[in-house]
Amino acid sequence: MIAGLTGLWTTLRWLFKRPVTAHYPEQHLPVQERYMGFPALLWDETADEPFCTGCMVCVRECPTQCMSAQMHDNPRFTDGASHRRKIIETFEINLNRCILCGICVDVCAFDAIEMSHEHELASYGRAGARADLDLLLAGGRHYQEETSWVPLNAEKNVAGVALAKKAAAAAAKSAAGPPASPAPEGSDGAEVDA
Ligand code: SF4
Ligand code: SF4
Repeated sequence: MIAGLTGLWTTLRWLFKRPVTAHYPEQHLPVQERYMGFPALLWDETADEPFCTGCMVCVRECPTQCMSAQMHDNPRFTDGASHRRKIIETFEINLNRCILCGICVDVCAFDAIEMSHEHELASYGRAGARADLDLLLAGGRHYQEETSWVPLNAEKNVAGVALAKKAAAAAAKSAAGPPASPAPEGSDGAEVDA
């Protein structure tokens, strides 16, 4: 009897409290800032192109071999709008095989890839888990916007900054004038007898 009343009292007490659970998938709880979801590729606004050069380092280091990439010559480098000679042409990650280890992010020297907050990519087909370049870039842009992402090495990797640095170095070099002509062979700068 007492146990029954205690149970009833507990039910009544909890009836009017705010629930701590969420009705997924209608309700989504926010993820933490440090949350590691699927990898995503980042976008360099200053050159209007991806940071990824397709160097393949992440592809080689991925422990589950779930990535593939292909690079090509960057037309924006020829135009002078980018400092990247090569740029990514195709990129694919099989997210069914990705173990979210973050190694691809750690080995990338171009600030081109991040573990985004994306974790909901369920689909009805096996091929649905294959994320192509467009999907990876869309995920990256969303991640950049929601976290106010900044690159680790802007001087090297942000086209606008790298090009400005290169232009400043060229201007300083031309202001310094041509290099002094070398002294004649066999001479330390003093006159030589004929
Ligand atoms: S994400 Fe980074 S490491 Fe991977 S191919 Fe692109 S530039 Fe290279
Ligand atoms: S997080 Fe790990 S498993 Fe997933 S793509 Fe990157 S290196 Fe491969």
